[in-house]
Amino acid sequence: MTTAITGSCFCKAVQYRITSAIPMAVNCHCNKCKKAGGAAFSSLAVIREKNLKITSGKECLTTYQLGENLAKHFCSRCGTPIYNINNRYPGRCMMALGSFDNPSVVVPSVNIHCENRLAWVLLDDKMQNFEQDYS
Ligand SMILES: [Zn+2]
Ligand SMILES: [Zn+2]
Repeated sequence: MTTAITGSCFCKAVQYRITSAIPMAVNCHCNKCKKAGGAAFSSLAVIREKNLKITSGKECLTTYQLGENLAKHFCSRCGTPIYNINNRYPGRCMMALGSFDNPSVVVPSVNIHCENRLAWVLLDDKMQNFEQDYS
């Protein structure tokens, strides 16, 4: 039995609940994540799409196509990224870890797109580090 994980955007218009444990989380250092998140890298929890329930503010949840296969979902009121959908990983949701009410519930185990990592972002060598994607 796991306690449900909840989260929201900054303004709390969009709220959600994740109805499963989190199988994994990654730090993505790609340049799209830098632009789309406004930070040095994105921390993303990978879950099954069916386990994400938007409990409030569906009407504020807006989609922006970052690329052919990648769509960002964010709050149109405050701009907080909530999740990404990548068509290369059907049925998966990449949740923006910082939008969790308790982001410490999951610890990223993998760094991806390290070839685009900023030099001052230090990697933990206990994590799995990939130059590009996992594949
Ligand atoms: Zn908001
Ligand atoms: Zn990325």
